[in-house]
Amino acid sequence: MTTATRVAVVGGGYAGMAALPGLRNIPGLEVHLWDPGVGQQLLPELPAALAPDDPVERHVLPFAQLLAGTGVVHHPHGVVEVRPSARLLLDDAGHQERFDWAIVAVGSDTAWPPVPGLRDHAQPFRSAADAQRLKSALAAAPHGRILVGGGGLTGVELAGELAPRGGVTLVEALDRLLPSLGPGLARYARDRLERAGVEVLTGRPIARVDEGTATLDGGPSVPWDVFIWAGGVAAPAAPAVEGASHDQRGYLVADAWGRVAPHVYVAGDGWIHREGERVWPQTAQSATSDGRFVADEIGRRVAGEPPGPPFVPSSHGMLVSLDAHKGVGWVVNEGWPVWGYGARVMKDVVFRQYRRTLAARLRAWRRP
Ligand SMILES: Cc1cc2nc3c(=O)[nH]c(=O)nc-3n(C[C@H](O)[C@H](O)[C@H](O)COP(=O)(O)OP(=O)(O)OC[C@H]3O[C@@H](n4cnc5c(N)ncnc54)[C@H](O)[C@@H]3O)c2cc1C
Repeated sequence: MTTATRVAVVGGGYAGMAALPGLRNIPGLEVHLWDPGVGQQLLPELPAALAPDDPVERHVLPFAQLLAGTGVVHHPHGVVEVRPSARLLLDDAGHQERFDWAIVAVGSDTAWPPVPGLRDHAQPFRSAADAQRLKSALAAAPHGRILVGGGGLTGVELAGELAPRGGVTLVEALDRLLPSLGPGLARYARDRLERAGVEVLTGRPIARVDEGTATLDGGPSVPWDVFIWAGGVAAPAAPAVEGASHDQRGYLVADAWGRVAPHVYVAGDGWIHREGERVWPQTAQSATSDGRFVADEIGRRVAGEPPGPPFVPSSHGMLVSLDAHKGVGWVVNEGWPVWGYGARVMKDVVFRQYRRTLAARLRAWRRP
C-alpha cells in the first residue's frame, strides 16, 4: 500500500493560508494545517477591533468555514518541534505526526527589551486574544490614561484608534514616529495624532515601568491605567527545527527558496528577506507572496522537477491608518507617498480585497 504524500502547514496566518490553495494542484497530496487558534487572525485589522461596537471575532476567519470542502485537516495544536531527519512533527498535545514536506509559517512574537517592569505591566498586541484582553482592560477603565509604547506601525495605529477616548500618550525611543516611512509622512502622522489629542513623546526610551507609571530615560514619568506595548517584533519561540540555523535575532536562516532544512520551508514573518543592507519589512503582503512561492516550490519538488527561480522580494506599499478617516503610507513599489482620506480608503480596500481573494481561492479548491 502506498501512503499519500503529506504536506504539513504550520501556522494558518497570511503565509500559511496563501500556501494552501497552491498545494491543491498537486495530485494525491494530503494537506494538514496545524494552528492552535480557531481561525485566521487578520492582525492588520485588530486595531479597528478596539472600537466598542466592533467585535474581535469579526476579524478572525474561522478555519471550519475556510477549509470546508477542501479536504485540509486542521489540527488545533501548536507545533513545538519539527524533525526533518525522521520527518516528524511534535505538537503541544504530545502528538507525533509524519510529514513529507513542511512549511513553517508561525509569524512573529512581541519583542520585550530588558526594561525593568516592562513585561510585568505592559500588554502585548499581536493576536486576537491580546485584542480581546485589551478591550476588557479598556472597558474596565473607561476614563483611564492609556500609554502606548512604540511608535511604529502598530503603535501609531493603536494611538489613532484610541485617541477619541482621550488621555492617550504615545512614546517612541527614536526621534520620530514610523521609521519605515519617510520623514514627511511621519510628521504628517504625528501632527494628525496630536490634533486628535494624543500626547506624542519621541527620542526618549522607557527606562523602567512600575504599577501605574512608566519612567522615560531622562524623565518625565508617564502615568498609565492601561499600558500597551507595541515596541517591536521578535522571532517566534516555537517550533524548534532540527538542524536549522538561526540569525542573530533568532530567525531561521533560509536559502533563496525558503528552505531551512531538508524538506522544511519557512514563509511569512519568519522568512527574513535581505537585499544587501536592506531588510524588507515583515508585512501581510510579503507573507502572502512567500506562502504562494513555497507552495509552488514544494509542488516542483514533489513532481521531481528542479527548483524554480529564487524568490525575489517586492512590495506594493505600506499603509498605516491614523483614525477612521485618515491614513498615511507608500504605494506603487513604495515609491508614491499617500496621506489623508485617500490613504485610509486604500487601506480599507486592501483589507476587503484580501478577504475576497482568500475566499475565492479556497472556493476554487472546493470545485471538483
Ligand atoms: C496589530 C498589527 C497590525 C499590523 N498591521 C499591518 C498592516 O497594516 N499591513 C501589513 O502588511 N502588515 C501588518 N501587520 C503585520 C502582519 O500582520 C504580519 O506581517 C503578518 O500577519 C505575517 O503573516 P504570517 O503568516 O507570517 O503570520 P501570522 O499572520 O501572524 O500567522 C501566524 C499563525 O501561526 C500560528 N502559530 C503560532 N505559533 C504556532 C505554532 N507553534 N504551531 C502552529 N501554529 C502556530 C498563529 O496562531 C497564527 O495563526 C500588522 C501586525 C500587527 C500585530
